[in-house]
Amino acid sequence: MKAHDGMYLDGDWRPSAGTETIEVVNPADEQVIGVVPAGTPADVDAAVRAARAAFPGWAATPPAERAARLTALRDALAARRDEIADTVTAELGAPLGFSRAVHADLPIAVAGSYAELAASYAFEEKVGNSTVLHEPVGVVGAITPWNYPLHQIVAKVAPALAAGCTVVLKPAEDTPLVAQLFAAAVHEAGLPAGVFNLVTGVGPVAGQALAAHEDVDLVSFTGSTAVGRRIGAAAGGAVKRVALELGGKSANVILPGADLTRAVKVGVANVFANSGQTCSAWTRILVDADRYDEAVELAAAAAAKYVPGDPRDETSRLGPVVNARQRDRVRGYIERGVAEGARLVAGGPGAPEGRETGYYVRPTVFADVTPEMTIAQEEIFGPVVAILKYRDEEDALRIANGTVYGLAGAVWSDDEEEAVAFARRLDTGQVDINGGRFNPLAPFGGYKQSGVGRELGVHGLAEYLHTKSLQF
Ligand code: NAP
Ligand code: MG
Repeated sequence: MKAHDGMYLDGDWRPSAGTETIEVVNPADEQVIGVVPAGTPADVDAAVRAARAAFPGWAATPPAERAARLTALRDALAARRDEIADTVTAELGAPLGFSRAVHADLPIAVAGSYAELAASYAFEEKVGNSTVLHEPVGVVGAITPWNYPLHQIVAKVAPALAAGCTVVLKPAEDTPLVAQLFAAAVHEAGLPAGVFNLVTGVGPVAGQALAAHEDVDLVSFTGSTAVGRRIGAAAGGAVKRVALELGGKSANVILPGADLTRAVKVGVANVFANSGQTCSAWTRILVDADRYDEAVELAAAAAAKYVPGDPRDETSRLGPVVNARQRDRVRGYIERGVAEGARLVAGGPGAPEGRETGYYVRPTVFADVTPEMTIAQEEIFGPVVAILKYRDEEDALRIANGTVYGLAGAVWSDDEEEAVAFARRLDTGQVDINGGRFNPLAPFGGYKQSGVGRELGVHGLAEYLHTKSLQF
């Protein structure tokens, strides 16, 4: 994995209009592993012009041919699977096994799903005396975060290309190397020049220029609620489409009859995966009073198995967080939890033993958390679990729905119907019943302040289309 010193614009690697650069740092040892250009508004403008010029041709390309290019893209990514995993481990700090199984294999699967959907989707339908055409929205500005860096790129770019849109991508400054690998795969897949363009850079400059560009028809953003709110407001002012995939504070609701051991173990694993840097993580465990103490003990025992270690070591289950700012932010939340009276049963605010170098955080479990505490309300984005006690099902529902977010969640019960009935009352975009598996074809997205719009599968494709009705 060698960093490109150019940006992928209009079908080739080209120098930036500016001279600023971004150093990419390995969060496990704080060493610089690459340098990429920090794109300027002029670079963004050049990329948008290339995407605009390529749009009519790509939009008119038959879906079967778009599908063939996406199949080639899937294959190019699959051929680079190990390189993708090594790169994400190096720039994000995810353990290597997780990088292979999730950071590489998930986007490969999603790219494959859009190759199939491009071929099978009904881009025309009949409604009474009308023929409804589903046409691509136009030029897409995609702004992605660092936590699932390739997945979040593919979850935007693949459906956009399947729909017939062209794209300018501004990936997170912390993880530009896997974005460059993606651009290399696009090139290998033979997509026409300008259909996909990459501008590496920092949010307030390149990201801001892309979100505000008047020739971008749709902005798709994943990241913090603070930035998403601003992008949404600007898009509203400009009357352009916007998709926002923001934060979460999802509840893991363990109903009284559930298999407590499994629910707690899977729940802790869900939060500690990717060092807690998952927008859909079930960061609040809700347990009834009778089994509360047992659940706390189980969670503390589960947490003890997550010893922070070098993510390149195959035995490590928990790597560092992405950068020093995130480390300080997460440790700050842990201090806040203690200050507000929650009880630490695992972890704490200091550095893990022997891990003073690298952006490591101790895997932390809080008991006696009450719903109004900061650590029960705000997205921490680190390996921190809060365990809350509920009185009865109504209380559990109130607590589960009692945040500004609504992205994901879990319900456990020995009676599946009871779990489903509870899930229907949750204000959230996804619920896993008794540990149901992640489905890369199911719509993913938020209720409330977790966002606007859906990604993945056919619902994700529809985001990049608008309709034209012909009456006969
Ligand atoms: P962020 O600033 O929202 O970053 C997301 C993306 O937006 C990055 O590409 C970023 O560029 C870009 N960006 C930043 N400011 C922008 C602006 N003014 N205009 C346009 N684009 C802009 O998130 P973060 O700072 O990396 O993380 C902060 C917190 O956000 C986390 O602690 C977590 O709570 C939350 N978060 C949520 C998700 C999620 O999946 N929902 C993902 C990441 C973070 P830069 O990389 O240069 O900043
Ligand atoms: Mg940022």
